[in-house]
Amino acid sequence: MGSRDNVALLKPFWVDLHIHTLLSPCGELEMGAPEVIEKAREAGLDIIGIADHNTCENYPGMAGAAQNGGRPGVPVVLPCIEAQSAEDIHTLCVFPEYPLALEFKEWLWKRIRPIKNDVEHFGYQIVVDAENGIVKEEEVLLIQGAGYEVDQIVEKARALGGLAILAHVDRPAFSYTAALGPMPEDYPADAFELSRRLNSDEAAKWRERYPGRAFIRSSDSHTLDTMSRANCTKMMLEAPTFEEIRMALRGEGGRRVSWPWG
Ligand SMILES: [Zn+2]
Ligand SMILES: [Zn+2]
Repeated sequence: MGSRDNVALLKPFWVDLHIHTLLSPCGELEMGAPEVIEKAREAGLDIIGIADHNTCENYPGMAGAAQNGGRPGVPVVLPCIEAQSAEDIHTLCVFPEYPLALEFKEWLWKRIRPIKNDVEHFGYQIVVDAENGIVKEEEVLLIQGAGYEVDQIVEKARALGGLAILAHVDRPAFSYTAALGPMPEDYPADAFELSRRLNSDEAAKWRERYPGRAFIRSSDSHTLDTMSRANCTKMMLEAPTFEEIRMALRGEGGRRVSWPWG
């Protein structure tokens, strides 16, 4: 049977869509391009999302680093943005290509205030190339709510062909639940993200509360040591691509997201 043949081609891929770099003020300087890629290889991550606060400008450096070294093309790197809404809700926006992520960023930045980053207080915000050469220092504070509601952010990311995933919905700060309470049953996000801090009992409660929703676990790494298979999500895919992830979140063609605490 055709469909059975397709299912047989699926393989497990380890996916962590939420990794900060040294561009995020809270991201450690050790989160440079070769370091993040080398750590992802060591940890056995197949697909990583570079997800800095309100920007995606370290994607080219990170993706470039993944083409260097002994295993070019590993891991697959996707451009993401952890957008912060007016209600201070974080949404992980995942894009198939960098130009779409940039288009989203430009839209977002129409309503980002020109507050200057206080390096002493928040830390450096640095854009690097594939060899950690400094491309620029971002002067505008990246941790701030843009002047869009979360609903607008979700809608825009999806309109551009991206995935909108409500970030760390279990956390008491910067989450949908913290700002607005429980998610509506039909909320138009592609998935809900749970944080790595949950144990299996706590995580199971979320699944019971929102049956039928796709859940992922991400490391939300700001340091190298948290990048690991234990902190991310296994997906059954045919290939390590954005489109396959989309299918897995929708449960299409046999693709699926394995329950991270299974
Ligand atoms: Zn966040
Ligand atoms: Zn984050």
